[in-house]
Amino acid sequence: MSELSYPYEAPASQALFDRAAAVTPGGVNSPVRAFRAVGGTPRFMVSGTGPYLTDADGREYVDLVCSWGPMILGHAHPEVIAAVQDAVARGTSFGTPGEGEVALAEEMIARVAPLEQVRLVSSGTEATMSAIRLARGFTQRTKVIKFAGCYHGHVDSLLAAAGSGVATFALPDTPGVTGAQAGDTIVLPYNDLDAVREAFRAHPGEIACVITEASPGNMGVVPPGEGFNQGLKDLCSENGALYISDEVMTGFRTSRAGWFGVDGVVPDLMTFGKVMGGGFPAAAFGGRADVMAHLAPAGPVYQAGTLSGNPVATAAGLAQLRLLDDAAYAKVDAVSKEIQGLVTDALTKEGVAHRLQTASNMFSVFFTDRPVRTYEDAKAQESFRFTAFFHAMLANGVYLPPSSFESWFVSTAHDERAVQKIADALPAAARAAAEATA
Ligand code: PLP
Repeated sequence: MSELSYPYEAPASQALFDRAAAVTPGGVNSPVRAFRAVGGTPRFMVSGTGPYLTDADGREYVDLVCSWGPMILGHAHPEVIAAVQDAVARGTSFGTPGEGEVALAEEMIARVAPLEQVRLVSSGTEATMSAIRLARGFTQRTKVIKFAGCYHGHVDSLLAAAGSGVATFALPDTPGVTGAQAGDTIVLPYNDLDAVREAFRAHPGEIACVITEASPGNMGVVPPGEGFNQGLKDLCSENGALYISDEVMTGFRTSRAGWFGVDGVVPDLMTFGKVMGGGFPAAAFGGRADVMAHLAPAGPVYQAGTLSGNPVATAAGLAQLRLLDDAAYAKVDAVSKEIQGLVTDALTKEGVAHRLQTASNMFSVFFTDRPVRTYEDAKAQESFRFTAFFHAMLANGVYLPPSSFESWFVSTAHDERAVQKIADALPAAARAAAEATA
């Protein structure tokens, strides 16, 4: 628990958290949910409707997490729910191919030009893990370049963010990942093409792929600098490596075609999750047909999954994608801009140094007066101000990501009432941020 005292209680959530802690490490099934970065009692949610979540104590929140991205149409969208109910009524898993997974793949391919073939999996982690394996199998090389601050799921070889300077071999970031697993990962500073160039020079013929978040949201929102992604692609092409764009977070969120729809840089492989699953465990990787042809059973690189292409998950994802037309994206973009403006105004009014950074409709606030272009920049912010800000927003019914290193997400369901609730909560939160001490 943090030393802050909170002016409100959540007794039912606390009771559930205590119960959970007895049966689950830390009381949660994914670490950030435990509120460790901000302290206090994690809210146990019991239902969601449109832009709102209701917790176990019966308190309603405007949700600016949206399940970490997937719920771009808001919670319990009637048409998505209907598609799910229809699919569930026909059975929940067959372990055979089915038409739903073909339709979902076709929808994705129709939207994202570089996708010639896709393989469905159940989580973003599986997608990036499999894409890396395929890149290694295809190129017959071992090393992988990733960037500090980019998260690609809990893949052993990618849980390495340490390392400073050019071509530093990463130390594992967590016990349980061996030096051998992390040793083929080269971690470089984000937005630094010279570092990538140098790594290719230092390891000729050894680098299988560069993997990057298409536009990072896992150190807060830190978009690629002008020409960075294209530079990565070019360096990969020149050096016989594959360029993997991780669109698990940005895919089908930052535009109809994800971040590819924004910057147009053509990857060799891409990874997806979140929005394409409509709130269910569905994810994918895909890209060049000649590369994907190396995947079993067409080729020798093994990859599989009992629940891959699950009929309920694919029905949810397909229903959500089909509802995401140009008007839907225009709506998400507009409400995102409106909320961004409110946040900036409130913090500016209280004289709080901050940078609001955006990647299309994804955004986050850094409590610093400097632009944030790297993970080091992100870590230099005054996170204690976020903690105070977060709790004041929560107390006034706005649910933000419980960490200053996360993107905020909105949906088509964030209407005037929801925006007003955010506007009402902001002045006190900005004041709390201004008054916070380290
Ligand atoms: N890649 C990116 C960019 C992500 O943001 C995430 C999750 O947040 C993942 C991969 C891992 O996805 P999952 O949590 O579904 O395993």
